Amino acid sequence: MKTFVYSTHTYEKIYLEEAQNNLVKLTLSSKSLNMATVNLCKGYTAISIFTTDLVTAPILEQLHENGVRFIALRSVGYDHVSLEKASELNIKVANVPHYSPNAIAEHAVLLILSLVRKLKIGQQLMGQNDFRLDQLIGFDLKGKTIGIIGTGLIGSTFAAILHGFGCKILAYDIQENQKLKEETGISYTSLENICEKSDVISIHCPLNNATQHLFNAHLFEQMKNNVIIINTARGGIINTKDLLDALKTGKIGAAGLDVYEHEKAIFFEKRQDSKLTDQLFETLRKQPNVLITCHQAFLTKEALQEIAKTTINNLVEWSENSNSNNEVTF
Ligand code: NAD
Repeated sequence: MKTFVYSTHTYEKIYLEEAQNNLVKLTLSSKSLNMATVNLCKGYTAISIFTTDLVTAPILEQLHENGVRFIALRSVGYDHVSLEKASELNIKVANVPHYSPNAIAEHAVLLILSLVRKLKIGQQLMGQNDFRLDQLIGFDLKGKTIGIIGTGLIGSTFAAILHGFGCKILAYDIQENQKLKEETGISYTSLENICEKSDVISIHCPLNNATQHLFNAHLFEQMKNNVIIINTARGGIINTKDLLDALKTGKIGAAGLDVYEHEKAIFFEKRQDSKLTDQLFETLRKQPNVLITCHQAFLTKEALQEIAKTTINNLVEWSENSNSNNEVTF
């Protein structure tokens, strides 16, 4: 299957090249998918895209006209694709439903520990040859209450790690994970109760209509003072403006964000020559108690190998019988 790969990053090239085989031939391009580049895939039956490629209805119509019938996502999330339109046009879409949930779960733990132990402030002081410790008092995680929103693959891996730290774990999900309950003794409860009791709240649910801006001023108000918020899921789950306000009033003690609501216009590109116009992002990243990583939670060797392998497998399945086990539907 001839596949045009949009938004190929240097870091993933070697893994994609290694994974391709005689059934799937990839053409790698660093160009992102948009109206100006959509015709690059003319003559290809399949394309592969990244989370920054917005696949809207007009793009899908053009893809269809170009002969594209399959879209292999190199991500878990598929909120960037209009699945309704894809299904209407009979274009199949498959994701990589799992690839090292540890990569993301461990990154969430990294954000928590860095914030709890004031790593950002400490590094800034060190840069000024100030080696005093007075601003760097942290707290033990053992015995603290961690609230987890979404206990799927990543959330449950995260829960198991925090269980090992000796934390008390509260979880909120629309579907309870019985196995996780038995293995880690976590308690499922309401979102409100999580807000009331948790010292740290970590988000691991998908972005959809129900979770868009789920974290807003109203929810922050219900949280413990000084709570730490971690988001490695999707930026749009948090109303960033409300978060900034809550950080400024001290309601929220710190935030660790691997994703940002308007990240598509910022992340994944070198932008040192162009001034960022997103004032919200600029203000947020200047806060001493906010640690932002640029959507890198997934970026481990193991995860990249797995993403490449599953992407190729999805394309192989389509080339053999037009069905893939990882199809996502509307
Ligand atoms: P998953 O599908 O295994 O788990 C998601 C969980 O969220 C499920 O248990 C589901 O029932 C729950 N959920 C759905 N709607 C909910 C709601 N309204 N309220 C509460 N819970 C809800 O997915 P996963 O592999 O654990 O990934 C979770 C998210 O992490 C993905 O959707 C993706 O957006 C994000 N992600 C981020 C990165 C990164 O690099 N930062 C990498 C991979 C995935």
